[in-house]
Parts: sequence; structure tokens; C-alpha cells
Amino acid sequence: MPLIFDHLSLGQRVVFHSGHGLEHVIEQIDYFGGSAVMLIAAGSAAEVADRLEARLPLVARVDRVVQHVPVSLVDSASSIATRAGADMIVAIGGGSAIGLAKAIALRTDIPIIAAPTTFAGSEATNIWGVTENGRKMTGSHASALPVAVVYDAELTMGLPSQLAITSGLNAIAHAVDGFWAPREDPINRAIGAEGLRALVPGLRNLRKDPQDLDAREQTLYGAYLAAVAFASAGSGLHHRICHVLGGAFDLPHAPMHSIVLSYVTAFNAPVVPDAATRIAAAFGSVEAESAAALVDRFRRELGAPAGLKDIGLSRSALPEAARLILPVVPESNPRTVTPRDMDRLLGDAWAGTPIR
Ligand code: NAD
Repeated sequence: MPLIFDHLSLGQRVVFHSGHGLEHVIEQIDYFGGSAVMLIAAGSAAEVADRLEARLPLVARVDRVVQHVPVSLVDSASSIATRAGADMIVAIGGGSAIGLAKAIALRTDIPIIAAPTTFAGSEATNIWGVTENGRKMTGSHASALPVAVVYDAELTMGLPSQLAITSGLNAIAHAVDGFWAPREDPINRAIGAEGLRALVPGLRNLRKDPQDLDAREQTLYGAYLAAVAFASAGSGLHHRICHVLGGAFDLPHAPMHSIVLSYVTAFNAPVVPDAATRIAAAFGSVEAESAAALVDRFRRELGAPAGLKDIGLSRSALPEAARLILPVVPESNPRTVTPRDMDRLLGDAWAGTPIR
């Protein structure tokens, strides 16, 4: 087969140093010339933010973030940033805090430094997402890509084990969905596979001992790689489904991803042998077990929720979900998705049907 591709790598500074995150955040503010910082640090990050605050040229602080980034919050936070004259945003938190920073940057072009506290990977992508009237809008833009990311696994230690597991499975979804996403290429496939290679043992060890810092480091490293692969390959079928479900039914982001992935893998992997091989290699191939069965067994072994019914989706919402998802299925998906296929996929994901 001839090797033909067109790959774009995103430029970003990445510092990885457990236990030293705050120093590196300060260093990066200095490096990128920040002189008026807006700090976004909600809930769990409040204590870290308090420690950081006194050492920053702080002009504003936002303590409230909301999952799926409602437009009303972007409006108020953007005007705070503008009024305060902020020239740098520091976001400490999960994908919701970083997502708010991205939405503000999109309007104001203020550069972002991100210090993630979950494995969602938003910090490594130029993808933004905001929700208005129950619809999640997403896109990509250079301003949404943080100029620097500081990874400190200690910042994830407060993340309760169940949230850490589903967040790590969200990262696995970035890598796996990237294997059949619209701009998949040999480089992002290789990065995604390396991400999986770190994520699978990282999550297994994290499940055994939630306080295992090495496991959290491995998971964080894998989550970064998986997000880089996702940013490059684009949103595949899995992400299109989850964007609709998240926006329309306000489902919890990471648990939803951890459920849906098994069923998208069951649908797509049989016709993408390279993806099936990479998945099998990362999960420890068991002969006669399909890629989807490996993914499914893994999430059950980790104790993630079984079906969408367990995270607040009512069965009566499925026809509406299918109606919204079908028009956004990527044209490049390796298999055509008929309305019947979508009904079956959503029905199985809702019920949590085991995959063999
Ligand atoms: P989140 O940021 O909503 O956090 C989930 C919960 O965990 C919150 O209650 C939060 O306060 C808490 N939390 C976070 N870190 C913690 C810590 N260290 N200790 C204790 N509690 C902690 O969840 P998420 O899954 O990280 O992010 C989801 C959002 O990110 C969604 O809106 C999703 O669309 C977006 N996202 C975007 C991208 C992208 O590339 N743009 C990628 C992934 C996720």
C-alpha cells in the first residue's frame, strides 16, 4: 500500500513533573509573558488555586464551572476577563474548567495555560465545546489550544476512584475512536496506540490502588497522547454520539464515554483490522476475543457503569437521540450507519448488553 497522508501537529509546550505543578505553572506564565492572570479553578482545585493565587499577578478568579460549558457562563466569564484586562488564563481542573477557558479564549484570544486534574485530555486539543438550549456546539480553533500544559499527577489524587476510572476510559475512547476518525493517519494511529499502551496498565493499577502515583502518572501520560491523537484524527462515530447525548440529555461526560465506546467498537472494529490489531495489542490479546469484547471486558473489570440507563438516560429518549445523531455521523465512518444500526447500538448501550 502506498503511504500517502497529510498530518498536522499542534504546537504546545508540555511539562510533566509530579509534585511540582505549581512552580511550572508560574514558570510558564513568565515564559509566555503573562502579566494579568485570570484563574479558573473550581471545586476540587480551589485549595491548589488558593496556594497559587498569592504567587500570581492575579486580576480575576472564576470559581464556578459547569459541565458541557453553558453559553451563559461563557458570557459572564468573558466579560469578567475583558473588564479585568486579563492577558493570560490559567485553568486548573477537569475538562469543564479547561473547556470554559477555551470558550473565553475563543472570544478574547487570551492564551491559556492548563493544569489538568482529570484524564479528559481537553488541554491537549484545540477543540472547544459550548452548550446552548440543550445542543452542544463544538469546533476547533487555534485560540482554544492552551499554549502550555503542566501535568502534575498529584493534582489528580483527589479525584475519587470511580471518577478517575471513567475519566481514564474517556481517554481510551480518544485513542480508539481516533483509529477510524475522519483524519486518521499513520502518525495519529501510532500516537493513539502508544496512549493505549500506557492507559491500560495505568488504569488497571489505579483500580487496584487509587493512591498509586505511578499509575496516575501512566494514566495521565496516556491520556495526553490519546488526546493528541484525537485532536489530530478528529471526531469519529463515538464522539459524535457522545456530543449529542451529552448536550441533549446532560449525561455525565466520562461515564457516558466509558459506556458508549464498547458498542461503537463492536460496530466499527470488525471492518478496521488495523484498529482491531492495535486494540488487541494494548489490552493483551486473547484469542477469539474481539476488540470490542476486550474493551467491554476491561471497563467492566474496572467497575465502570454498565449502561446509559444507569447514568440517567430514559429509554424513551432513545428515538430522539437517534434522530439527532444520524445526521452527524461522519461520512468517512468505515461502515454506513443505518437508522436500524443506530437504534440497535443505542439500545445496547442503554441496556449495557455485554459484548462477547
Ligand atoms: P469535569 O471537569 O466536569 O469534572 C468532573 C467532576 O470531577 C467535577 O465535579 C469536578 O469538580 C471533579 N474533579 C475534577 N478534578 C478533580 C480532582 N482532582 N479531585 C476531585 N474532584 C475533581 O469532568 P471531565 O470529564 O474532566 O471533563 C468533562 C468536560 O470536558 C465535558 O464538558 C467535555 O465535553 C469536555 N472535554 C473536552 C475535550 C476537548 O478536547 N475539547 C476533551 C475531553 C472532555
